[in-house]
Amino acid sequence: MSKIKILDRSTIQKIAAGEIIERPSSVVKELIENSLDANAASITLEIRNGGKDYIRITDDGHGFNEDDLKIAFKRHTTSKLNNIDDIYKIISFGFRGEALASISSVSRVEVLTKTENALHGIRGYVENEEILEMMPIGCPKGTTMIVKDLFYNIPVRKSFLKSNTIEANYISDIICRLALGNEGISFKYIKDNKVIFNISKDNDLLTNIYILLGREFADNMVAISFESSNISVRGYVSKNTFYRSNRNHQYLYVNNRYVKNYDITKLIEEKYKSIIPINKFPVYVVFIDINPSLIDVNIHPTKQEIKFLNFQQVANALDKAIDQTFNRILSIPEISIGK
Ligand code: ADP
Ligand code: MG
Repeated sequence: MSKIKILDRSTIQKIAAGEIIERPSSVVKELIENSLDANAASITLEIRNGGKDYIRITDDGHGFNEDDLKIAFKRHTTSKLNNIDDIYKIISFGFRGEALASISSVSRVEVLTKTENALHGIRGYVENEEILEMMPIGCPKGTTMIVKDLFYNIPVRKSFLKSNTIEANYISDIICRLALGNEGISFKYIKDNKVIFNISKDNDLLTNIYILLGREFADNMVAISFESSNISVRGYVSKNTFYRSNRNHQYLYVNNRYVKNYDITKLIEEKYKSIIPINKFPVYVVFIDINPSLIDVNIHPTKQEIKFLNFQQVANALDKAIDQTFNRILSIPEISIGK
């Protein structure tokens, strides 16, 4: 008798889902990114009990038509990628077509959606990649996803989740990152029936820094910007009188996607080396816009690291952006003696 067996479908689904959906904040990240990809101008997130019991995301994006909704929750279904070459020019957040499948394999999902031209909306219930029921309903254009009872069918996974407070903090970090990175879009965040923030699409970046990170940040950061033919850098960096004891407030966005890149971190921190105390870290919210073909998109969906194909070019642009501002704000007034 063979000791090697093919795993049953439900086990395969749960293992695959677990790679993408680790905790409630992963659901939030995937669903908000989908709303952004659907061209939403306004996104509302509501969570209860750290997102373990209830997560709702409502957007005013393009919605699903009936045929798309029928297959959207299957694994590897996407509207964003046609073939492997597309991966190297991708500008949307998603492209693997796995998020909805994964979420529906480990929770109970309700979806309400309507496209611009549809006569009515659709309400559907989804479990294990299958739409169980679809009914016509009246609703505005856009999509609402309600995710209940995360990991109800994987008790071990559920028991590994942290307290409601800690899980809610992970979610707050995610929505803060996404809201900071997407000016021009309204974000509303409701936690346990309390509105945490309500960001207007008309806000500029500094106003969003004020709302999301606090007054101390907004008051102590200075604008940077630099533009050349194929790269642009903009954002805010902290003054030399404002620093933190960790790197939690270093936000880097490449083509509007929140990413980590150690070379950039090092480059920026180097600028502060002699002007802030040792073991302290600058704060920054920096946007780099670059032709997508000049970055190496990491095709693993949960990883945030990216590589620049020509780092020196990025380094030069960032160098100039920061130096221009520093030369202005750090310039020591000249003392003229006896002229
Ligand atoms: P991916 O984002 O990688 O394409 P997902 O499983 O996250 O895969 O979503 C599958 C498809 O469902 C998307 O490609 C998109 O066409 C559609 N979709 C998902 N979320 C929304 C939304 N909020 N509004 C409209 N369409 C959506
Ligand atoms: Mg997606």
